[in-house]
Amino acid sequence: MLDADFFRRWMTATAASVHREAERLTALDSPIGDADHGSNLQRGFTAVTAALEKEPPTTPGAVLILAGRRLISTVGGASGPLYGTLLRGTGKALGDADEVSEEEFAQAFRAGVDGVMKLGGAAPGDKTMIDALVPAVDALGDGFGAARAAAEQGAVATIPLQARKGRASYVGERSIGHQDPGATSAALLVAGLAEANG
Ligand code: ADP
Ligand code: MG
Ligand code: MG
Repeated sequence: MLDADFFRRWMTATAASVHREAERLTALDSPIGDADHGSNLQRGFTAVTAALEKEPPTTPGAVLILAGRRLISTVGGASGPLYGTLLRGTGKALGDADEVSEEEFAQAFRAGVDGVMKLGGAAPGDKTMIDALVPAVDALGDGFGAARAAAEQGAVATIPLQARKGRASYVGERSIGHQDPGATSAALLVAGLAEANG
C-alpha cells in the first residue's frame, strides 16, 4: 500500500531530479521554445517541497492536491497549470483514503492525465508531455519500473515528431529533430515513483 509518506517522497525525488536536470530541460526548450522549462519547474518544485515540509498533509490525496496547487500558483509557463492539473486531478481521484493500492493509484493517475489532455487539448503524437504520460499510465499495471521505462521511451519518441501544441508548434517543421522538454520532465516525474518506492 502507498501512504502519504510515499507521495511526499515522490515529490521530493522529483524535485531533486528536476534540480539535477534543470539545465538540460532548459536547453531542450531553447531550439523549440523560450528556454525556461528547467527554471519553471525548478521554481515550482522548490515551492512544492517547501509547502509539504511546512505542513505535511496526512493523506495521499492531500499531498498531491497541495503539490498541484503550488505548481499552478508558482509556475508561469504552460507546464505549471498542466502539471498542476495532473497532480491535483490525481489527488482528487484518490479521495481521502489514508493508503491506496498501486492499482488505485494507476486509476487515479489516468484520471489526472485525462485532465491534462482536456485542459491542453493535446493527444498522443502532438509532441508534448502527453507522449510520456500516456505510455506511463498504460504501463503502470506492470509496476513503477515499467512505467518509468515507458515514459523515457515516450520522451525519446518525440524527437521525430512535429509539435502541434504549445510554443513548439510555432516553429512548425523546425520542431522536428528535437526532444520535447515537457515529455522529458514528465519522464523525470514518472521515474520519481520508482525512486520513492525503492
Ligand atoms: P512555456 O511553453 O509556456 O514556456 P514550459 O517551457 O514550462 O512552458 O513547458 C513547455 C512544455 O509544456 C512543452 O515541452 C510541452 O511538453 C508542454 N505543453 C505545452 N503546451 C501543451 C499542451 N497544450 N498540452 C500538453 N502539454 C503541453
Ligand atoms: Mg518554455
Ligand atoms: Mg515560457
